[in-house]
Amino acid sequence: MPLGPEVLALADRIEAFVREVVVPYEADPRRDHHGAPLDEMVFEMRDKARAAGVLTPHIRPDGTHRTQRETALLLIRSGLSPLGPLACNTNAPDEGNMYLIGHVGTPELKERFLRKLHEGRARSAFLMTEPAEWGGAGADPSMMKTTCRPDGNHWVVNGRKCFITGYQGAEVGIVMARAEEGACMFLVDLPDPAIRIDEIPNTIDTSMPGSHATLTIENLRIPADQMLGAAGEGFKYAQVRLSPARLSHCMRWLGACIRAQEIATDYACRREAFGKPLIEHEGVGFKLAENRILIKQCELMIDWCASVLDTASLGTIESSMAKVSVSEALMTIADNCVQVMGGMGVTDKTIVEQVFREIRAFRIYDGPTEVHKWSLAKKIKRDWKQAQGA
Ligand SMILES: Cc1cc2nc3c(=O)[nH]c(=O)nc-3n(C[C@H](O)[C@H](O)[C@H](O)COP(=O)(O)OP(=O)(O)OC[C@H]3O[C@@H](n4cnc5c(N)ncnc54)[C@H](O)[C@@H]3O)c2cc1C
Repeated sequence: MPLGPEVLALADRIEAFVREVVVPYEADPRRDHHGAPLDEMVFEMRDKARAAGVLTPHIRPDGTHRTQRETALLLIRSGLSPLGPLACNTNAPDEGNMYLIGHVGTPELKERFLRKLHEGRARSAFLMTEPAEWGGAGADPSMMKTTCRPDGNHWVVNGRKCFITGYQGAEVGIVMARAEEGACMFLVDLPDPAIRIDEIPNTIDTSMPGSHATLTIENLRIPADQMLGAAGEGFKYAQVRLSPARLSHCMRWLGACIRAQEIATDYACRREAFGKPLIEHEGVGFKLAENRILIKQCELMIDWCASVLDTASLGTIESSMAKVSVSEALMTIADNCVQVMGGMGVTDKTIVEQVFREIRAFRIYDGPTEVHKWSLAKKIKRDWKQAQGA
């Protein structure tokens, strides 16, 4: 079904905002020593997005959401700059965290934690992954070692976490821990002295403020009414967050690759070698043609998965398929753009090299490619077994 005129017009406004207001910030030196944007710049861009009517365009103040197909249109446009999602408040992990609080949070929790996130006045972090050397949860979340136990009208959490995007500077945290009943999720105010930053490693990607922290949690006391949903249901809620959050990464990074393709095309049409523009050399033209085809495939894959999620399905299988297909295609697109631009492609004079680095990390977070394929293979076997029994 075609999307309505209101959302189409909003998408155009987002695109104009990103191209005219956000893109100039790409040269702004306000970055931390990991290369990530400083909050001062993030909140300055958000003030401008608020004034332009393009802030948090996909989530309503009460936590309800536009359809995923509408969201896709808006988030792809916000992704046209790596800074666009931060400016429009469509970035990870805030986007997925707002979605989760909107779906599982009580009215009181929404008022206290969602409101400031929705208004773009605070950032948040999602604390699930744990250090490999500690034997904690990674690709396999069931290995979670961080514990929580009830103590009066509080829960007490102890454990370790790593790769926690945006932790430094975040005001809202969603902490996952294991109780006797199973996994639990809690909303917490940050910073909290019971959560110590051990390290913030340098990583290949640089788009996310606060980068990705390694943490130790020691006797973190959380009032019982700050549990998200019910004890033991944590992995179920993680699933609620996972499919749309995964798909929203596909949307944003597709936007970034569309822009990288524009930059590479401009280079290939202007730059000459061996007596003609680069694009007229088959080896270059074919790369850009391949990219055009892959961009369309990504759009269709996202639209298909979004339409499944819009039926209220969890879309676990579909979002796995979309995540693998889109992240791998985007890697090819970004690599082609770097190659077409020669030496310029690996400099920081355009966003192309950053997009290449960011997509490399995207093939790991929200489920590495192999894990999605592995779970798909398990489903294929289940389907086969069922067919044998029929
Ligand atoms: C940039 C970035 C941001 C992140 N942000 C967050 C965050 O905000 N919050 C959070 O909680 N986590 C975050 N993560 C963590 C991310 O979700 C994990 O890195 C991911 O789940 C993989 O876990 P791991 O790194 O421990 O890899 P491991 O579990 O050590 O796996 C390593 C590799 O083994 C392979 N593998 C694993 N299982 C299988 C299998 N069944 N079949 C085949 N191959 C397999 C895969 O190739 C995988 O990449 C982030 C990660 C990155 C890189």
